[in-house]
Amino acid sequence: MKRRQLLQAGSLGALAAGMGSLGPSVTGASLLAAQQQRSGLPPIKITDVKCILTAPAGRRLAVVKVSTSEPELYGLGCATFTQRIRTVQTAVDVYLKQFLVGKSPWDIEDIWQSSFVSSYWRNGPVLNNALGGVDAALWDILGKWTGLPVYQLLGGKSRQAVDTYRSAGGRTFEELVDSFQQLREQGYRHIRCEPVVPEASPPLGPENAARPANQRTRIWEAAPFARALPRFFGKLRERFGEQVELLTDVHELLPPILAIQLAKELEPVRMFFLEDPLSPEDVGYFKHLRQQSSTPIAMGELFNNPNEWLDIISQRLIDFIRVHISQIGGVSMAFKLSHLCEFFRVRTAWHGPGDTSPVGHAANIHLGLVVNNFGIQEFHGLTQSERDVFPGSPQERNGYVYINEAPGFGVDLDEKLAARFPIRDDPSFDLHWGNLRRKDGSIVKP
Ligand SMILES: [Mg+2]
Repeated sequence: MKRRQLLQAGSLGALAAGMGSLGPSVTGASLLAAQQQRSGLPPIKITDVKCILTAPAGRRLAVVKVSTSEPELYGLGCATFTQRIRTVQTAVDVYLKQFLVGKSPWDIEDIWQSSFVSSYWRNGPVLNNALGGVDAALWDILGKWTGLPVYQLLGGKSRQAVDTYRSAGGRTFEELVDSFQQLREQGYRHIRCEPVVPEASPPLGPENAARPANQRTRIWEAAPFARALPRFFGKLRERFGEQVELLTDVHELLPPILAIQLAKELEPVRMFFLEDPLSPEDVGYFKHLRQQSSTPIAMGELFNNPNEWLDIISQRLIDFIRVHISQIGGVSMAFKLSHLCEFFRVRTAWHGPGDTSPVGHAANIHLGLVVNNFGIQEFHGLTQSERDVFPGSPQERNGYVYINEAPGFGVDLDEKLAARFPIRDDPSFDLHWGNLRRKDGSIVKP
């Protein structure tokens, strides 16, 4: 049945339900059924929920596909937690699937709320990513059915494109300046730099470098790093002037008092933001940081639960919320969070690293197009193989990133091609977080 016919059938069903069954004697179950029909949407059901793993650019990606009883109608949502990707797959394929098959894909909010409590224990990053993938897939389905892009369902465009930042790289100041210059020439107005500070993080010795990536111990000392950064950014500002926005990320690696010193010393540079100055366990220090410094603060990529962000937003202690959308439970939660932030003048800067699928990037961008308090979007571009596996992926021009105008998120997944890029169960994907140590051998906590 075509969409319009089904809409009519849904409307007729709604009319019948409204006339015939809404008396005082209806049961809770029949009332729910009547409300569902009154929406005017057809009574289709979720028939399958699965997690697809693929690595077209070598980075392990997870995408949830929700199928429905309507032929060809399915949705996709990013659920990538690359370091623990098979646990996300289990959460989707074993647990959420049996919970959701048979439910209505139109009940996006109810599915979010019921799935969230379905395991009783509150979600962490694994279950949030699984739920986030389902949630985005349901928005995708609603968009495809109504023929509208998700940004339209969320309220329509506040802007025509989403401004992005990229990272300049290089082991020396000169290399980094070259990389920075190239990005400027490509049109980027916001550039993140994370300088290599040899006094803080010496090069790997030959014995260490010969080990598998996940067994290499990296040395990292906070104090020389924190002292070097203001000098570095002072030179960079001198070199490139005021017509570019400078960003940096310290990955939650500093003891709180060094983070406060750093934020103060960066004030003359007028940073766009200082990212992740404190670890999630140190959020209590944000009020001290704020009292001491006017450097704009971005925070949130390790957050999972509203209790981690409510206080620092409502007390006006940060300037950019930087959560990873699938990690907090998907588009529904991110949309609510962005509205909360709007009233405290906190802008969005959704986490958009390379281990985000193009479906996830598209979700970031759709939200960025809508919310008034958009700040900036992290987007490092896509490889051709990613674009081939995910037809309709976002495109960049002059430092902005654009989605297409197709219904839903506008990004598809070629499952056959995706299968030609299997993920590797290589623990080096844990990166170096478990092996970052001080010179005395103790672990450094991000
Ligand atoms: Mg970060």
